[in-house]
Amino acid sequence: QSVMEKVLQRRSLRMRNMQRSWQESPEGRKMLEFRKSLPAFREKDRLLQAIAQNQVIVISGETGCGKTTQLPQYVLESEIESGRGAFCSIICTQPRRISAMAVSERVSTERGEPLGETVGYKVRLEGMKGKNTHLLFCTSGILLRRLLSDRNLNGITHVFVDEIHERGMNEDFLLIILKELLPRRRDLRLILMSATLNAELFSNYFEGAPTIHIPGFTYPVQAHFLEDVLEMTGYKMSSFNQIDDYGREKMWKTQKQLAPRKRKNQITALVEDALNKSSFENYSARARDSLSSWVPDCIGFNLIEAVLCHICRKERPGAVLVFMTGWEDISCLRDQLKAHPLLGDPNRVLLLTCHGSMATSEQKLIFERPPPNVRKIVLTTNMAEASITINDIVFVVDCGKAKETTYDALNNTPCLLPSWISQASARQRRGRAGRVQPGECYHLYPKCVFEAFAEYQLPELLRTPLNSLCLQIKSLQVGSIGEFLSAALQPPEPLTFTGPMPSQHLYIVLKKNEAVTFCICISSTSAHYLFCNFLVQNAIGFLKMIGALDENENLTDLGKFLSVLPVDPKLGKMLIMGAIFRCFDPILTIVSGLSVRDPFLLPQDKKDLAGTAKSRFSAKDYSDHMALVRAYEGWKDAEREGSAYEYCWRNFLSAQTLQAIHSLRKQFSFILRDAGLIDADASNNNRLSHNQSLVRAIICSGLFPGIASVVHRETSMSFKTMDDGQVLLYANSVNARYQTIPYPWLVFGEKVKVNTVFIRDSTGVSDSILMLYGGSLHQGVQAGHLKMLDGYIDFFMDPSLAECYLKLKEEVNKLIQG
Ligand code: ADP
Ligand code: MG
Repeated sequence: QSVMEKVLQRRSLRMRNMQRSWQESPEGRKMLEFRKSLPAFREKDRLLQAIAQNQVIVISGETGCGKTTQLPQYVLESEIESGRGAFCSIICTQPRRISAMAVSERVSTERGEPLGETVGYKVRLEGMKGKNTHLLFCTSGILLRRLLSDRNLNGITHVFVDEIHERGMNEDFLLIILKELLPRRRDLRLILMSATLNAELFSNYFEGAPTIHIPGFTYPVQAHFLEDVLEMTGYKMSSFNQIDDYGREKMWKTQKQLAPRKRKNQITALVEDALNKSSFENYSARARDSLSSWVPDCIGFNLIEAVLCHICRKERPGAVLVFMTGWEDISCLRDQLKAHPLLGDPNRVLLLTCHGSMATSEQKLIFERPPPNVRKIVLTTNMAEASITINDIVFVVDCGKAKETTYDALNNTPCLLPSWISQASARQRRGRAGRVQPGECYHLYPKCVFEAFAEYQLPELLRTPLNSLCLQIKSLQVGSIGEFLSAALQPPEPLTFTGPMPSQHLYIVLKKNEAVTFCICISSTSAHYLFCNFLVQNAIGFLKMIGALDENENLTDLGKFLSVLPVDPKLGKMLIMGAIFRCFDPILTIVSGLSVRDPFLLPQDKKDLAGTAKSRFSAKDYSDHMALVRAYEGWKDAEREGSAYEYCWRNFLSAQTLQAIHSLRKQFSFILRDAGLIDADASNNNRLSHNQSLVRAIICSGLFPGIASVVHRETSMSFKTMDDGQVLLYANSVNARYQTIPYPWLVFGEKVKVNTVFIRDSTGVSDSILMLYGGSLHQGVQAGHLKMLDGYIDFFMDPSLAECYLKLKEEVNKLIQG
């Protein structure tokens, strides 16, 4: 026996003593009582036995039955009880950071320990774990990063991959790697957990791994579809016909070639017609006014309001959960409800919201029981569908949609559009009403629409840009990206449709560059059916262009480095450029800001004020990115003077986001210093930070090929990109406030399609900057990248570019040498 082993044995004994004394204490017993009431408990022995006998098992069970909080804990407890506590190391992955944090806190409470002892968590930028941590909840992204540097997961005994039914990209990616790892680590146990009954799929993927279902637990929930809802709430059937039509209209609208304006008028007419028939009695004049500006969703809002009134007036006690598409909708509806005589009365209704970026204190409120005679109403995004469980819900209102990121691979544009959910999601939402007693669910769409939903949602792997993923695959050194991905659960195979191909829908077949040969069909449920080789081809093309991969798809030195930076590859490259060109601080702030989120707040009712506040940071440099730098630096100063709070308030800035940017800056600096890319002496790294053109150029080098040309007309400006044609600027971009912009180009980091394509933050750049810094500068300006630019020159036809390019190249050469 080695010394190490003896130490661990002693520690194991101590762990057992502590566990026993907690379980025998009064609070411990009470907690155990509660835990025994969960459905998972009845299966405990069977589960532990299955885990002992099989390398992989798949577990399914209703949300709330105790998968996440109990199963990893059972394993931990039984290891501790058998005196091997200090030898085990359990990881449980979560798709979202907020659930990793909430669950680890819950489990340590159940064990009567502070968080960070036996149970801990780790998410990007934050973590609570120590040398005694044997059960770690982390995001799937964190485990992937670990796998990059530790291919065998040395020391880990059990891996739980949770919420696999969601089919997140990271989870699908994890499964490929773990599947390949299992034969090399015969002692490693893999447990997959899913909220729905599609365990078959996963079991087949792992050569028939046994599946265990934790039998039901929820009470029956009665489903009411729109037909019934309208009747109950006093909406007339005549208006239902209109809504149904509207629903169909909206589906058609997604088909590209239909003239949008014509559609819009038709729909507006339709809605107005419905209003004139006075079938929407509850409809306020306010909503009627806003009709002209395309707000058919207010029908949804008023319907929700009516349903909530119905529940509050007529139904038995119990909390209500309302599923909406996103934060914007939620805050609009909240404001509308606050003005309502019944729903806005705090003595009768406790109105709460639940979304991804809420603070922990807010989060706690959701779980608490309201005072007697007060009804709790929680407006939520998809968050509460599976990953968060609120116990006292009896009523669910389901709008039938979710804002889902899809990806238009043809135009290489991410889209963020509310789209119909899947049948599985609808069932899941409904199930949330039956936790404590029989419940009711109000689906705000007709039954026939439900029947037309896809059975399951399209996996994320088939609907997101794969840039980061492909880079990570490369750094795993597993050969060709395409081949590796073909081992996925639902591989993005070339020339395979990722969904059924209903014949009545529209097909667009196009040829763009070599990589792209065919394209899409848009179906009635607004899902994009893609030939998925675009996804991989686009990513590989992109990685080659930024110089992370060479011609033969091998990882370059730059690529190796980018794969370890926990950030989008193009931002990683910008960071390195900032270090090399000695303007590190501003670039560090920009990269951190772009990878956290925008600290500039944009409250619905104060958009203009917020925009003005932001533009004060722009000081005529036509750059959202530089505005961010100033805002951050101002905040640092204000903090030093103790006035950070007022500073944020006055300038519509989120202190929480600034804080996150601040921590990320530290983390990045650390990694870059470790890699020898920056000096310990900060002033040396910032010798050229005052040089605005240089900072602009580095921004360009990172964001290329995110480029829009600025087209000036007499009184207005418009913007075009090569892929999308005309695009619009986000309302609170500083560049949206100018009459003219003295730069021919804007570089931008992100574009998103919401009806039209919008570009978010942008910075004006000159011809020469674009010429010199667009593309892969690390190897000098290459022929390949010139080819790329040729495309732009052809497209925008600007002959003065070449001349500027030569001139500037000379200058920069001098700069580099000096
Ligand atoms: P599953 O993973 O199967 O959806 P969980 O393990 O997350 O279920 O939750 C099991 C039960 O534990 C829930 O039904 C709830 O009663 C309780 N629970 C979970 N999280 C909390 C919490 N933060 N506070 C109080 N109770 C909780
Ligand atoms: Mg769970």
